[in-house]
Amino acid sequence: MHSPVSLKPISKALIAAYAREGVRVGPASGPELIVSTFGLWSGKLAVEHGTPFVLADATQMTPDLPAHMHLRWTIERIKKIVKVDDWKAQQLAAITIDLVRKAGLRIDAQAVLFDRRHESMRARILKALVDPHFPPVHASAAIGADLLPCPPTSLGAHLELIGPDRPMGPGGYGTVVETVARDAAYLWATPSRELREADSAFTDRFEMRNGKPHSASLGLGFCLVLPFIGIDRARSQNYALFSPALHYRQPGPLWRTSGIASSTYRESDTVARGGPALADIIGVPVTSLPRADVCPACMSVVVRGPGIAEHHCDASGPDARHIVSFLRGRFGAGRTSFTNEDLLSDAHAPRDRNGRVVSRDVLENFLHTHRLTLKLRQFEHTWTVMRRPTIDLEPRAIQEVSEHHAGA
Ligand SMILES: [Zn+2]
Repeated sequence: MHSPVSLKPISKALIAAYAREGVRVGPASGPELIVSTFGLWSGKLAVEHGTPFVLADATQMTPDLPAHMHLRWTIERIKKIVKVDDWKAQQLAAITIDLVRKAGLRIDAQAVLFDRRHESMRARILKALVDPHFPPVHASAAIGADLLPCPPTSLGAHLELIGPDRPMGPGGYGTVVETVARDAAYLWATPSRELREADSAFTDRFEMRNGKPHSASLGLGFCLVLPFIGIDRARSQNYALFSPALHYRQPGPLWRTSGIASSTYRESDTVARGGPALADIIGVPVTSLPRADVCPACMSVVVRGPGIAEHHCDASGPDARHIVSFLRGRFGAGRTSFTNEDLLSDAHAPRDRNGRVVSRDVLENFLHTHRLTLKLRQFEHTWTVMRRPTIDLEPRAIQEVSEHHAGA
């Protein structure tokens, strides 16, 4: 998917810029100077740590936010590598940082945090992002500085977090769980940074207030792509893109979702203007991407595909199918209000995967988590079914997912 970013072109430009200042540096020093702007100790170690770099469109970077740039550290490294005095080093540091920033080079924070290949070096790379002289403005650096908890890092945990939430924007989707159960949705694990529609997947912001962590947003680095046909006469091919991010707000302590950014890639319009089809950006047809599905037992969004960890169902949770049929029965009979105790004493009380009736806390937690999908509202100890739950947990989902459960 992503080919590693070469530092060579930036290194060449940097050496030329130094030459214009009357300073000669060899080609081996270029990468050293570049990685110093990120606070990294050496280019060699950056390679050994497998530090992932990306080229982002520089115009898309918020101008008031420095992209992990460490001025003092860069000055120190320049003095060591180039052997110039303090004054000259300051001048060269400004040139170096400006060049790296204009090239759009940055550390791929989402890959550092969420890609299993970087797991063993994650803490070290994140620590390198912390500038001891300035409070962090990136969530990733704030995690490195222990100002924020590290969010869950696995795709499975991310899908579980976003499932109960609702995409925002045009389209009037239900929750992600409802949408994925109803429509074909595909996982685009490494969306293009050039694509504005996927921006939110790469959010990395952190804000301090009164010297304390206040809020943060962190994109999850992937998109769900939903093909749909436009209602125009030409019935043109469009795609909805969900680009989820996690949010943190004091007093914490957890990262959560709160409305998922969604946008539309209008392919026919784009192609008519000479732009690319989405498949050309992705590199494969959308329908060749791993497909998302809903596990009918625990109602998590699951994706199966090469390199993606198997979904392990939480066997202590209630079976979602029991709950959906209970709620539909209640709604159909016009008895829309009920308590946890009503549900637990019902003949079809929700059971876990071992056949035991679930505990009150487990039930409460499940209903609360999935209240939007299940059309529930809670007032004190009473739940009300506002509408008939329409979530479709069968037959496609059941057939495919029971196989994966049998295999698990
Ligand atoms: Zn499951």
